[in-house]
Amino acid sequence: RGGTAEREVPFAKPGSLTRVYAVASGKGGVGKSSVTVNLAAAMAADGLKVGVVDADIYGHSVPRMLGADGKPTQVENMIMPPSAHGVKVISIGMFTPGNSPVVWRGPMLHRALQQFLADVFWGDLDVLLLDLPPGTGDIAISVAQLVPNAEILVVTTPQQAAAEVAERAGSIAVQTHQKIVGVVENMAGLPCPHCDEIVDVFGTGGGQRVAEGLTKTTGASVPVLGSIPIDVRLREGGDEGKPVVLSDPDSPAGAALRSIAGKL
Ligand code: ADP
Repeated sequence: RGGTAEREVPFAKPGSLTRVYAVASGKGGVGKSSVTVNLAAAMAADGLKVGVVDADIYGHSVPRMLGADGKPTQVENMIMPPSAHGVKVISIGMFTPGNSPVVWRGPMLHRALQQFLADVFWGDLDVLLLDLPPGTGDIAISVAQLVPNAEILVVTTPQQAAAEVAERAGSIAVQTHQKIVGVVENMAGLPCPHCDEIVDVFGTGGGQRVAEGLTKTTGASVPVLGSIPIDVRLREGGDEGKPVVLSDPDSPAGAALRSIAGKL
């Protein structure tokens, strides 16, 4: 919208009824996007009005995982987001040609996020989830500036090394004075398909460790909201654009994710 003043971010206005959660992780591949889309789909299935902003510039995978293959359209000077499973979604990948990598720098990212929040027609949302890039990058700072009331949800695996970086990513909330709503531990054990045993592929205790560390650094109690096991159905659901909370809600991963969604 060349020349016109920036629109206000509706979610940051005093009295906004939309709960905004920024989903963060220390590193990639821990299941941050999978958790985001499943929480969104579970909340939409519960009748909430839900939106997702895919701000993960390096791995914008939210539309595929949600099966949102529509394109955003422009009406007047607002962007209408496509939706899938009752979830409205906008992704940085919808504005880059083909599968080209995004090489934007901080100020452009900030501007893109500003537009995603203010120029997209979200309607009255109950919940907005932001899928952040992994780490403690510029986007986390932008989120804090654009939506100071956004609460941080930290995703980690049980692995100690992963927990350390997740804790670092979460502790950015201290600098930005944001609340950390809780920690989600993903890939917490693989139930053996042949016996009752659980194989702790990534060890144990990472979620608890991050929650305790962040409780100490923030001075506010940070809970572990739940542990999600390794589950082929979760991965398949992501590949097929049908989140496991919908395709197999009572599977171990589906049930864990629905329980976490109920706590938000
Ligand atoms: P991130 O957003 O942290 O980079 P993704 O959500 O893209 O991570 O997940 C990385 C890969 O791991 C994806 O292929 C996803 O399907 C798979 N995955 C994530 N969580 C689980 C799980 N609990 N069980 C099985 N596969 C998982």
